[in-house]
Amino acid sequence: MKYLFSLVLVIFATAARAQEPAQWKGKFEQLEQMLPTPNEYRTGSGAPGPKYWQQQADYDIKVELNDDNQSITGSETITYHNNSPDVLKYLWVQLDQNLFAKDSNTPRTATSNVVDSVTTKTIAGQLSLIDFDGGFKLKSVTDASGKPLKYFINATMMRVDLPQPLKSKEKVSFNVEWSFNIVDRNLLGGRSGVEYFPEDKNYIYTVAQFFPRMCVYDDVVGWQNKQFLGRSEFTVPFGDYKVRITVPADHMVGATGMIQNPTEVLTQTELQRFEQAKKSFDKPVIIRTQAEAVAKEQSKVREKKTWEFAATNVRDFAFATSRKFIWDAMAVKIGTNTPLAMSYYPKEGNPLWEKESTIAVKNTLEVYSKFTIDYPYPQATSVHTASIGMEYPMICFNFGRPDKNGTYPDRTKWGMIGVIVHEVGHNFFPMIINNDERESTWMDEGINSFVQYLTERERYKDKPVGRGSASGLVDYMKGDPSTKRPLMTSGENVVQIGSEQYGKAATALNILRETVMGPELFDRAFKEYAQRWAFKHPKPSDFFRTLEDASAVDLDWYWRGWFYTTDNLSVSLDDVKWFRLRNTTADPEGKNKQVTKGDLGPKSGSNGKDFSGGPQYFSVITTDDRLYQEFQNKVDDKAIIGKLENKNIYEITVSNKGGLIMPVIIEWTYKDGTKEIERLPAEIWRLNESKVTKVFAKDKEVVNVVIDPKKETSDIEEADNAFPRVQQPSKFDEMRKKTN
Ligand SMILES: [Zn+2]
Repeated sequence: MKYLFSLVLVIFATAARAQEPAQWKGKFEQLEQMLPTPNEYRTGSGAPGPKYWQQQADYDIKVELNDDNQSITGSETITYHNNSPDVLKYLWVQLDQNLFAKDSNTPRTATSNVVDSVTTKTIAGQLSLIDFDGGFKLKSVTDASGKPLKYFINATMMRVDLPQPLKSKEKVSFNVEWSFNIVDRNLLGGRSGVEYFPEDKNYIYTVAQFFPRMCVYDDVVGWQNKQFLGRSEFTVPFGDYKVRITVPADHMVGATGMIQNPTEVLTQTELQRFEQAKKSFDKPVIIRTQAEAVAKEQSKVREKKTWEFAATNVRDFAFATSRKFIWDAMAVKIGTNTPLAMSYYPKEGNPLWEKESTIAVKNTLEVYSKFTIDYPYPQATSVHTASIGMEYPMICFNFGRPDKNGTYPDRTKWGMIGVIVHEVGHNFFPMIINNDERESTWMDEGINSFVQYLTERERYKDKPVGRGSASGLVDYMKGDPSTKRPLMTSGENVVQIGSEQYGKAATALNILRETVMGPELFDRAFKEYAQRWAFKHPKPSDFFRTLEDASAVDLDWYWRGWFYTTDNLSVSLDDVKWFRLRNTTADPEGKNKQVTKGDLGPKSGSNGKDFSGGPQYFSVITTDDRLYQEFQNKVDDKAIIGKLENKNIYEITVSNKGGLIMPVIIEWTYKDGTKEIERLPAEIWRLNESKVTKVFAKDKEVVNVVIDPKKETSDIEEADNAFPRVQQPSKFDEMRKKTN
């Protein structure tokens, strides 16, 4: 609208002249070639395409635990369904236990250096001084008829050559027999392992990566056979599992899926309590009590029992077994589903575990389901373990152990609740929304840490905030740039994995939700992503595209800054100038005052420090008829000037010093003590990415202006966010705490 433009032009003339040449970096341009070209498998909208396909791998597994030497012996039949349009000459199988083999590349590719003093445990790890015979020992790899198949092993990957190429839409079955020694996690680390309890001479086994399992073959990378070096996690296809686990008869077993033969392995009393638990929605029912578990610790029977489990449409299988386990469970109402929330823990976990674990599982299922999809599996289990948190479908291993006398500091309780929410949350990312963990760590760890943050804010308000808050990222953002990597970096190549792939990604999503999109728009788009990609394999571009597609918010600038760079967030409120109108409605053309065009020279406005110099005066002049050209509708000069007559006009200048783009959140504090917050969308930066100036008309006099008053953007330098500048940020903080 032209006539308005001419009026605005006069006011802004000074500002436009004062601006420095913009450093344009295309921050608002589309990602285009940075994202893969859409095709019939993955669309430009971020949804699976009409010809989207994924492979399926079904397993029939038998394993036996040897409690005397802590080893596993197993056999399996894998049925591999080739749903791809391609013909496959060979199949790639993951041999994750080879991480612990003598020739493992993991210690060889770990850097180390000599320091003044070092613990035995650290140097033993660095120089591989602990003698452990790890890795899979394969007994046979045979076809369905039992004939040996050709295969070769490259570190943690095995290529099985097929006698006949596997055509599209066909399936093939083959068998593997193996054994391996279970790693002592306290000595050698690892995600699967055993812990010994010297007082009662028993073990807790948390067993995973215990069977040779298929790699993912997909439309983007073909076989994902990138080696397992220990950190970047797993990329696994969906399938149905039937697993028989043979353990000492006094053991209690928890696993992925549902138990198929409860009458064979549980006592009559346990069976009754289990049935009770399925109907108990308000609190957990203890199925094997502490007293019963303690009695088992002494029994140490030699006989064995076989537990049968089945799971449908899962991407992996894990189990935990011990005679030390107490077991409790309760039902949870999720839409039309009533999954069980369950926990397995030794007496060493009590009284904390019986109080908090299963409730934390329930809370997690409820809140995650609200933000994503209704939890579709029949159960979710939390297992007590020494020092790690690790996730598998329907089961996860979590730390959090009270002191020997049963007391525990808050830190232990919150740590344990945090890890349970996190690991149970992984059921959604990546167990159901099944991304490539080996390559795109942030898609499971970052997204999951973000929903963990939402869950804890909703259900554990007293818990200290973990990863995900905006202010929590500031220390990382201020840190050494040489160790920072963009989020779109393979997890294996990242130096600060926790701060970035978990923390920065979670904060990025939190700020996106709270500050950029607003919860309503974000939640709708995020849910759409979960719905589209549940039980499928999404890529980063599918996430980026879906969030835009479902919200009508162009977020390429946000992905570009937060996911493809290591830029910081640092805005500075450079100046606030205070003006008032020189002319009035009584003298609309300001004829009684000396008006000179361009009289607001560089010295005009505020003194650059505070408002003590009082306002400067500027003129609004009537719009010359010639400027309307042929248009008949004209601005009512008097009315416009009347609207501005008693106003305080403020011109603020904000510069972007960190590189990351963010909405500009302005807090005005008025002379009468009241406050007002104004939020300007990030697009205000689109013409000048480094400096913007904007004019506001306020009824009241302003005494203070602060950018990002509630610290919602991870701004790394607060001192330059206020006008007038605050000399001592600590006092300022105190003042602000009182007023907010
Ligand atoms: Zn995690």
